[in-house]
Amino acid sequence: MLGAFTGLTALGADAARPQDGPGAAASAETTPRARPVITPTPTPTPTPRPAAWTPAKLTALETPVRELSQLSPAPPPNSIALTLDDGPHPKWTPRILDLLAEEEVHATFFIVGEQVKEHPRITRRIADAGHQICNHTETHPMSIARMPEKKVRREIVDAHDRIADATGVVPRFFRSPGGAWSKTVLELTAENDMLPIDWAVDPRDWARPGVRRIRKALLKGKDGNILLCHDGGGDRFQTLKALEDAIPKLKKRGLTFIAL
Ligand SMILES: [Zn+2]
Repeated sequence: MLGAFTGLTALGADAARPQDGPGAAASAETTPRARPVITPTPTPTPTPRPAAWTPAKLTALETPVRELSQLSPAPPPNSIALTLDDGPHPKWTPRILDLLAEEEVHATFFIVGEQVKEHPRITRRIADAGHQICNHTETHPMSIARMPEKKVRREIVDAHDRIADATGVVPRFFRSPGGAWSKTVLELTAENDMLPIDWAVDPRDWARPGVRRIRKALLKGKDGNILLCHDGGGDRFQTLKALEDAIPKLKKRGLTFIAL
């Protein structure tokens, strides 16, 4: 995995220095850099990415990332990240994508390999719209934290391959089903060059508690939060309605939605 690791590091360095390019060196003495150089080996970015933030180092974390400030380099102030899990869903994912396009919001999709197999075209639509595509295992096993290494590896690698085949995107972020983490899951996340991602705001939309309650929870979101919602796993009408209302309200507060 060393090759992939180097690629990711280089991508992070490249993203951290948006002003670099031909001619940048000549003006380096007079132009102050916005951010410090992190990695000294610039290579061309192979694939355009929806977001600039890449983990500076991919060692196994002891706990998953819950706030944007834990990423390196950290996103600018007043950023908030919407994450959508368990898709792609043939009915709800396209409707949520329409809403995100209308609101000009980029989100982060933690998708399930088996769903990618069923709906490769919707998976590609997510990626083509500039959203971040991430690994949420192949079959979404809720018991993953108790599973042996071999099975966890299968879940991660199968989803990884399927997503890469369908979209050309190699996922850089992983979320464990139900937020269930174990030492093994965290180690294999790092081994596959991904950061483990949790959330700060959970409206429990999967349980369909009503549009009002989902919206109320989402509106508690603030600077640096990662919001958890679902586009897959069942009827997501309530989620869609809550997002229709909450996204413009959060934007009006000066928050900018970013993809991871
Ligand atoms: Zn899930």
